[in-house]
Amino acid sequence: MPHDRYHRQRLLPGIGDAGQQRLTESHALIVGCGALGCAAADLLARAGVGTLTLVDRDLVETTNLQRQVLFDESQVGEPKAIAAAERLARVNRGVRTEPVIADFNPTNARSIATRATGGAPDVILDGTDNFETRFLVNDLAVESGVPYLYAGAVGTRGMVAAFRPPFGAREGGPCLRCVFDAPPPPGSQPTCDTAGVLGPVISIVAGVQAGEAIKVLTGAHDRVRPTLLEFDAWANTRRTIELAPMRDPACACCVRGSLDYLDAPADQPATICGRDAVQVLPTGEGGIDLAALAERLRAHGSFEVTRFLLRGAVEGDETDDRIGLTVFRDGRALISGLDDPVRARSIYAKYIGA
Ligand SMILES: [Zn+2]
Repeated sequence: MPHDRYHRQRLLPGIGDAGQQRLTESHALIVGCGALGCAAADLLARAGVGTLTLVDRDLVETTNLQRQVLFDESQVGEPKAIAAAERLARVNRGVRTEPVIADFNPTNARSIATRATGGAPDVILDGTDNFETRFLVNDLAVESGVPYLYAGAVGTRGMVAAFRPPFGAREGGPCLRCVFDAPPPPGSQPTCDTAGVLGPVISIVAGVQAGEAIKVLTGAHDRVRPTLLEFDAWANTRRTIELAPMRDPACACCVRGSLDYLDAPADQPATICGRDAVQVLPTGEGGIDLAALAERLRAHGSFEVTRFLLRGAVEGDETDDRIGLTVFRDGRALISGLDDPVRARSIYAKYIGA
């Protein structure tokens, strides 16, 4: 084979031409295109993973640029999934990306996972920032028998682990729920928004995670990390915990088969997200005609429609003045300038529709 762009990777005995071919035929689902998702997606696109599904609900913000390596200043305000896909297309046009602007939730998780290829992905990478979504991803991984690469980073600490099938089997697992019984109560854990995050921690965690993904996708299953790795890049501490003994023979998910998060009723219709903003999910399916909505909103403020969303602010209204609306094609909305889900829901009904 000539010295193509993967030459230095094919030189590795563990990969070779056969491993490279397997990467080309692989599909990785990356849930969340924040710091971790960006860094892992970049590595996998460069490695030549054939199909990448990129899911994210948020828009690029200036405070993301410190660590979210796929984005630049010109992309502030763009949906992250789109900005990431555009960047990756410039990195490697041989990789097919499937950007999905959505809140990954029980209603859409299965269909998003299979959208790109019609079948289950070959690996799922955790780029989320919350345990609710992680438990949902774990349910999906257990149901479809797909390896789930868990990762987290906050402050100066990072954590990464590979949860692999056969889940629930004596020699297999554990799954995430064997290790963590339930998500911590909301608000009990530090987040990057409240505690900050050291950029290099992201690179370490995503590097380990992408390395495990490459092992899984090339079929080097005996080489996949058997431990949960946890470290603090500031305190210079590091520990590893063997995963196999953490398998719970009574695990509700991988042993008893209840997919409580995947089969849960649709997410809360309105949830606080970030500072001074509430996300409202549509009650129906079928999406929304943004141009028609812009027309209806003309009397209420200034709004613009871009390729992927409508955004603007209410002006001159006695009670809602300067409330910001960002509405996506699937009907989801971010309502800014408040932190009350009930009020956000009523603003949604008033300006966007029930
Ligand atoms: Zn389990």
